[in-house]
Amino acid sequence: MTDATDDSGPASEMTADLETIVSLAKRRGFVFPSAEIYGGFAAAYDYGPLGVEMRRNIRESWWRWMVQSRDDVVGIEASIISNPRIWVASGHVENFTDPLVECTNCQARLRADHVEDNTCPSCGAVGKFTDPRKFNMMLSTIVGPVADESGRAFLRPETAQGMFVNFDNVQTAMRKRLPFGIAQIGKSFRNEITVKQFIFRTREFEQMEMEYFCHPEQSMELHTYWKKERLRWHYSLGIRPQHLRLRDHSPEELSHYSRGTSDVEIHYPWGWGELEGIAHRGDYDLTQHSEHSGKKLTYFDPDTNQHLVPHVIEPAVGVDRVLLTLLFDAYSEEEVEGEKRVVLRLAPAIAPVTVAVLPLSKKIEPKAREVYDSLRPHFRTQYDDSQSIGRRYRRQDEIGTPLCVTVDFETENDGAVTIRERDSMQQVRVPLVGLVAAIRERIDALTPRIPSHDEITI
Ligand code: ATP
Repeated sequence: MTDATDDSGPASEMTADLETIVSLAKRRGFVFPSAEIYGGFAAAYDYGPLGVEMRRNIRESWWRWMVQSRDDVVGIEASIISNPRIWVASGHVENFTDPLVECTNCQARLRADHVEDNTCPSCGAVGKFTDPRKFNMMLSTIVGPVADESGRAFLRPETAQGMFVNFDNVQTAMRKRLPFGIAQIGKSFRNEITVKQFIFRTREFEQMEMEYFCHPEQSMELHTYWKKERLRWHYSLGIRPQHLRLRDHSPEELSHYSRGTSDVEIHYPWGWGELEGIAHRGDYDLTQHSEHSGKKLTYFDPDTNQHLVPHVIEPAVGVDRVLLTLLFDAYSEEEVEGEKRVVLRLAPAIAPVTVAVLPLSKKIEPKAREVYDSLRPHFRTQYDDSQSIGRRYRRQDEIGTPLCVTVDFETENDGAVTIRERDSMQQVRVPLVGLVAAIRERIDALTPRIPSHDEITI
């Protein structure tokens, strides 16, 4: 196991700049600009074959961590488009706004809090901005056959409200007692004003959110618990501690529903930025939905025989942002025999391909295919027989494949293959009998060790 708390190694800056990551992502099939043949579409991206695998691994890891490995959290999948009254009750119609300013010199529209030194980043004009006005970030559509305002509905800007409006259904169906959580993974949409930095901020993105309902008096302690628990998950992905920090929101920064929020932040090449928000939402949402729907959203405590409105702790993180973070964090360059080697040091659970099977020559394809077929049921496996073996190793390094299995002319005679490790480039000969176990052992060795709560100070 590698030690997730080991913060020796490179300083907190990422090795790669944004351009390098965007180029690798496209070249190797992680992320493409959307509708590129039509000139693209602002802030929209399509995930390619490797990006899709990585996203699945991220979601899978989150779901296992947050839902399947716990007794107190269950999942749902709510509609993206639902009753618009949800967004009135949640405060999004009124408050989900960013301050918008316009440059009177070049008409660029910007988020006021993203403008530095009163200078327009598009034309350089200084002090030429209009006064900020509130810009609502919800994307809307018309539902039904009549194109008028009566059919106006919103594309959800967060998945969280799906959990609040289903609080009673879930509690009743699953007979849950406090504290318990409802989790969801799904797409959200925001009409962001400033969209740059690739998939860091897009108008369509995917969130992984969990609402943890608890007794009000337990909420502060549980907020601390979830901050640590969420850091542990990020460490489990292999994110290096020196690239990550926890930052409390100042009172002015807090969202309308929040009693306290801490962000997990990453040191991106453009500075510290939010990867995840861990908010104490108090009883805001259940109270609002109760008032607006007329339906009582309370919990009956069998110990005290009283009804109460639970408080909520919410860890919320984006799949796209985790993927981008991992590309930055895992990227490294080194010189090997006078040549540049690019390596994505992704954790085995996240890497799009876990094992690549590489025949030394096309002539030994039948044996190599046999090896490949024996590994496929166990690992995400890729067969690659094009170009020289050296180039194939480099290609696998660049997409983060932790292990390569090389089948050569000797394999038929000695019943053995060579395992080559991505990080150390070490090669070991291992018998085909027991190959699956030998690979598992190496995957375990490359899997980050997850610190305990006691080892994390916040
Ligand atoms: P930011 O300050 O970056 O605008 P936020 O505080 O509005 O983000 P939250 O509402 O806390 O974000 O959303 C939870 C998580 O969802 C974020 O931490 C991020 O990972 C993800 N997320 C939010 N907005 C976007 C977006 N436009 N594009 C991609 N991911 C997003």
